[in-house]
Amino acid sequence: MKPAPFEYVRATSVDDAMARYIEAEDARYLAGGQSLLAALNFRLDAPELLIDISQIGALRGIGRQGNAVIIGAMTRHAEVAADPLVTAHLPLLAQAVAHVAHPAIRHRGTIGGSIALADPASEMPACALALSAVLHVNGPDGLRTISADDFFRGIYETALMPGEILTQIEFPLPATEARHGFAELARRKGDYAMTGLALMTGPSPRIVWFALSDRPVRARTAEAALAAGETRANIAALATDGINVLGDLNASDAVKRHYARILLSRVLQEAGLP
Ligand code: FAD
Repeated sequence: MKPAPFEYVRATSVDDAMARYIEAEDARYLAGGQSLLAALNFRLDAPELLIDISQIGALRGIGRQGNAVIIGAMTRHAEVAADPLVTAHLPLLAQAVAHVAHPAIRHRGTIGGSIALADPASEMPACALALSAVLHVNGPDGLRTISADDFFRGIYETALMPGEILTQIEFPLPATEARHGFAELARRKGDYAMTGLALMTGPSPRIVWFALSDRPVRARTAEAALAAGETRANIAALATDGINVLGDLNASDAVKRHYARILLSRVLQEAGLP
């Protein structure tokens, strides 16, 4: 199908993008277009105006600031994958981004687009949560930051208010002793996951599921068991404890719970747990 007619403008700055958003009746920000254009083509969405924010230089790039790595929201998945700061300090992100779709999509799609879209089966939102990221947002009411814990609200639902732009993702450097783990089950490489897991060990471990519920979700009971030094088998038995597991076209909720136990046990073993 073809999309409904729409106007297109390329924003020159974040302020320009927001001004155009406020002027329009019904606008959407366009990042890499890898999800938005498909939604338009299927006529799941029909805005009157697309505001292209992908060429705003201030929204791109990766740098170190104090004890954090800052990634501009319009940084493409492929750039994240190739960046030495990411490889050195955020190996979880480096490992996970290779599972996002296919190379062509990774060269257009952006980390910010992925997080703003909040597909519950996406890798980047889960990594943001596992790495305790802080999301920097600019909007008609000014700048604010939102912790990843508070950002994801439901299927394609976030804490972003109308007109707000996700500008940067701040990843605090993980503790030096922290190890990471990542795994997902997908029917074919590059497909969205049927069940996936991003994990950080350390003093405050984080076990985050994606493609399991309506948003990326922490396995808090299993995290507590990991922090308490429980065995791998005991932790894996708690994989989905307290989580609202939702079946989908790929797998029923019971199958997803089963996958989750297997993935958690496997990832903990790879992270060196007995
Ligand atoms: P766009 O499609 O341009 O935008 C998505 C939404 O976010 C829009 O509503 C837009 O208005 C909003 N938005 C974008 N950026 C911002 C911002 N900075 N501030 C506020 N709002 C913003 N993704 C995965 O995670 N895993 C996969 O396995 C996967 N497989 C895919 C397979 C296919 C065949 C395709 C086409 C896509 C797949 N994707 C997958 C999606 C891909 O990762 C996209 O890059 C991502 O979902 C959206 O990023 P984007 O930059 O293209 O955003």
